[in-house]
Amino acid sequence: MSRNFVYSGSPAHIVFGEGKSATAGEWIKKLGCKRALVLSTPQQKADAEALAERLGSLAVGVFSGAVMHTPVDVTATAMKVVAESQADCVVSLGGGSTTGLGKAIAYRTELPQIVIPTTYAGSEVTPILGQTEGGRKTTVKDPKILPEVVIYDATLTTGLPVGLSMTSGLNAMAHAVEALYAQDRNPISTVMAIEGLRAFRSALPKIMVASSDIEARAEGLYGAWLCGTVLGTVGMALHHKICHTLGGTFDTPHAETHAIMLPHTAAFNAVAVPDLFQPVAEIFGGSVGGGLWDFAKSIGAPLALRDLGLTEADLDKAGQIAVENPYWNPRPIDRSSIRALLQQAWEGRRPENYSSYKGSGRRMK
Ligand code: NAD
Repeated sequence: MSRNFVYSGSPAHIVFGEGKSATAGEWIKKLGCKRALVLSTPQQKADAEALAERLGSLAVGVFSGAVMHTPVDVTATAMKVVAESQADCVVSLGGGSTTGLGKAIAYRTELPQIVIPTTYAGSEVTPILGQTEGGRKTTVKDPKILPEVVIYDATLTTGLPVGLSMTSGLNAMAHAVEALYAQDRNPISTVMAIEGLRAFRSALPKIMVASSDIEARAEGLYGAWLCGTVLGTVGMALHHKICHTLGGTFDTPHAETHAIMLPHTAAFNAVAVPDLFQPVAEIFGGSVGGGLWDFAKSIGAPLALRDLGLTEADLDKAGQIAVENPYWNPRPIDRSSIRALLQQAWEGRRPENYSSYKGSGRRMK
């Protein structure tokens, strides 16, 4: 195999360990800061207030208004609090929504960020920020968006509801699956992606039966770090394009959409990259798409797009949008093949062998 790649390591500090969120104060000081604003969603306000209390004089307040997809008006309100409180850093406690708000503040102010993730979305280790304004989502990538410190503390994740844990894990796994065939992949991104998939293969079934299994929760966070890191490192393809289309146009829930689509997009692309997908076949068994679908079913994840409220007419529109301005993909796509793929995902069927599709369309850019 020829070796031809570029590798850039992340400058972030990654801290793992049960109870390690108690070291947030030390990290605030290491960053040269002393006035942290703690961020959360309304649902996690009590946890954020408890954290602020533990930080004592290092915390200047809590802003608990974070919501999904980082609307710019919420960011504007948070920016006022940043200014009034003269915060010199943010501590984001929560999932991708809270991390998104911290990133939006850092993007505008260059304030350093400490993130304490409580889902498996992986946003905490990417330099990517998605923001919404007037129903439109735009994405920016900038080194100042990447959080400086991430503290993975499994004790804070035992309260993540089992259903959300499963879909959040599958969301993270989708980053790893697409990293395996990314054009700009490198040996480290591939190793991390495979290890991330193994971590979730092991952790999610255990979390399903015992949500407070701390070792399985730590394994889940380990998978989140690995899968999130590859998301921040290499380009994503058809799967992420379809999920962004469904989420952006039909407002389908983020993690569930990824969870439902993953077996289908993987089955479609498996035809083009059988060798690169060999590790996925080994971890999940059988054909890649079928193995991932069986796994999702076994952990009780949603399987059908129709259960998210989409209609068949929506699929026509989604198929059209997904082939406009497409991302690069290892297999050429066209509208009819993507429409057929969406139909199977809508019905919740175990993915068929997608090799029969002609794939006569253009290769995604
Ligand atoms: P989320 O952050 O919206 O969390 C979902 C709900 O679960 C929220 O109400 C939250 O408060 C609650 N929650 C989170 N952790 C909990 C816990 N441990 N216990 C109890 N409740 C808990 O969901 P998410 O899937 O983590 O994030 C989705 C958002 O992240 C989307 O906006 C998506 O676009 C973004 N995202 C961005 C990137 C990136 O690199 N920019 C990557 C992945 C996701």
